[in-house]
Amino acid sequence: MRVILSINNLRAVYLVREGTIKACDGVSFDIEENTVYAIVGESASGKSTIIEAMTLTLPPNSKILEGEVIYNGRDLLKLSENELRKIRWSEIALVPQAAQQSLNPTMRIIDHFFDTVYAHHKNWQNNEIVKKAEELIALVRLDPKNVLYSFPHQLSGGMKQRVLIALSLVFKPKILILDEPTSALDVLTQAYIIQLLKDLKKQLKLTLIFVTHDIAVAAELSDRISVVYAGNIVESGPTRDVLKDPKHPYTQGLVNSIMSLISDPEKIKGIPGDPPSLLDPPSGCRFHPRCTYVREECKKEKPPMYSLNSNRKVACYLYK
Ligand code: ATP
Ligand code: SF4
Ligand code: MG
Repeated sequence: MRVILSINNLRAVYLVREGTIKACDGVSFDIEENTVYAIVGESASGKSTIIEAMTLTLPPNSKILEGEVIYNGRDLLKLSENELRKIRWSEIALVPQAAQQSLNPTMRIIDHFFDTVYAHHKNWQNNEIVKKAEELIALVRLDPKNVLYSFPHQLSGGMKQRVLIALSLVFKPKILILDEPTSALDVLTQAYIIQLLKDLKKQLKLTLIFVTHDIAVAAELSDRISVVYAGNIVESGPTRDVLKDPKHPYTQGLVNSIMSLISDPEKIKGIPGDPPSLLDPPSGCRFHPRCTYVREECKKEKPPMYSLNSNRKVACYLYK
């Protein structure tokens, strides 16, 4: 399958009074067209930073230090603001984390469609915008007549998330990136959104990239997965293989604790210790202070991504 987006050695930091937070530390992965890619990790592991760096939507106190984000043969990190505007939303759309709060409480949903179209300098007639909004709201299985003329507070969390997905599709992007699309929703609504995203992917031939802290959601929705620990990708591969037979000691700990949570909560082992501060992360392999297999070289140099086969990669010296 064709690689549609290629992220190479992406490094981004936040500048704070205490120093620099190394939240995305040399991250690489390829996204194949018309597949679903999950980026999974614990809270504060750097998931949002990775996708905000990829889409150049990081906050002002951040800095991209190096890397490439190749789309259609061009490095997005080298484009001008004007060139980027043409790609954003029209080719690559992003539904940020907690985007529901970004809906303007004083504006009806239809006005959010007007605003989005105007903001992208499109010469659409008003009736075209309404038609498009109706079509997209129906596509996410909401009732256009009702929802388009509602204010955000009149909608449930799940409905708002569907509205945001509809809005993100307004210029027919090829790639849709979603940050925690199902968090803060009840289990049934989560399942509904997952099914909806699967259907949209098929119907619109979308490539989906999403971030989640929930392995079950990743298992349900994604074809491929990258596991993030302390600003690094530690393991990548087909979701089913990685979850069935995790190779990195961190992924093993994560998957084991979830399996024991389901099968025998009494025996839950977990991973000893806590994730490190990204202000002053451990040298070498950032997992080394918590790893049962740690050896001298782990403390010195960050392990590269070793290929296990054409499909799977692991950043761990055990697979040298
Ligand atoms: P969550 O699952 O909670 O959304 P995450 O995996 O998306 O977490 P990030 O939001 O990428 O994690 O944060 C990675 C690290 O960067 C954390 O230590 C966080 O505190 C820090 N961080 C995030 N945004 C900023 C910011 N604007 N300024 C300073 N530090 C930040
Ligand atoms: Fe453990 Fe070393 Fe592998 Fe890191 S590189 S996960 S410390 S064995
Ligand atoms: Mg996040």
